[in-house]
Amino acid sequence: MNRKKLAEKVITGLRRVIKERTTELNHVNPYELLVATVLSAQCTDERVNKVSPPLFKAFPTVQDMAVASVEKIFPFIQSISYPNNKSRHLAKMSKQIVEDHAGQVPETVEGLESLAGVGHKTAQVVAGVAFGIPTLAVDTHVYRVAHRIGLVSDAATPVHVERQLKKLLPREDWSDMHHVLILHGRYRCTARNPDCETCPISSLCDYYARLQKLPARRADLDQREGRYYCATRNHYFKEADLVSDRTGTEQLSCPRCGSMNIFDTRSGKTAKKVKDYRI
Ligand code: SF4
Repeated sequence: MNRKKLAEKVITGLRRVIKERTTELNHVNPYELLVATVLSAQCTDERVNKVSPPLFKAFPTVQDMAVASVEKIFPFIQSISYPNNKSRHLAKMSKQIVEDHAGQVPETVEGLESLAGVGHKTAQVVAGVAFGIPTLAVDTHVYRVAHRIGLVSDAATPVHVERQLKKLLPREDWSDMHHVLILHGRYRCTARNPDCETCPISSLCDYYARLQKLPARRADLDQREGRYYCATRNHYFKEADLVSDRTGTEQLSCPRCGSMNIFDTRSGKTAKKVKDYRI
């Protein structure tokens, strides 16, 4: 299946199960969304939603925040990541909006990116959610899930992933793809423990297909013979070498023949790993 067809099937499959396709950051206007999105960098939406109500009560408008000092903002956000930087950014960003944009949050990605503390990802999220502009921001969830499914390849950075994904879908689907991949990554295709068995798109997923091709568990191994078993040369050994395969994934290998077809004799399971983009 070509990637465009795959992307179409993935978005259709995920739309069926993910009905609320929007940000989980609580907000009532573009100002609050912008502030919450800046706060959410390297932090969970859940935590941001805990600190934002008192913050917005103290600074209900961008004008209120624009006259506040960094020291006034800091206590409201000190429990989230990077509070020093973020309080500095919020103070400066609010002043920029009041002084350079007549108190209105800019409605374009470029305008948003000109603000302190607002990077490409944040600008796209705000432009997409607050102003309905087709955007496809790539965060860690989108990056991981897009790679696992096989929607992108050799995309080393979020910008590369964004470019490749945008080529696969019409503009009107960009925002939805962003939201379904984030929510799928947050709740099912998690970094450490993807729930592939209940995944509605497992039949489309490259990672899942690779898992299915791994050698079956063996019940015929004797752990008294050695910690590992090389299934290529049929012998046991105590200590495995560590090598990188062609996907860059670290694999155990046989110290005698270099084979990666190794089994753990204690569990009977293959020692082979599938690249999982665990970020
Ligand atoms: S099958 Fe597994 S790895 Fe693939 S998208 Fe679903 S949860 Fe993620």
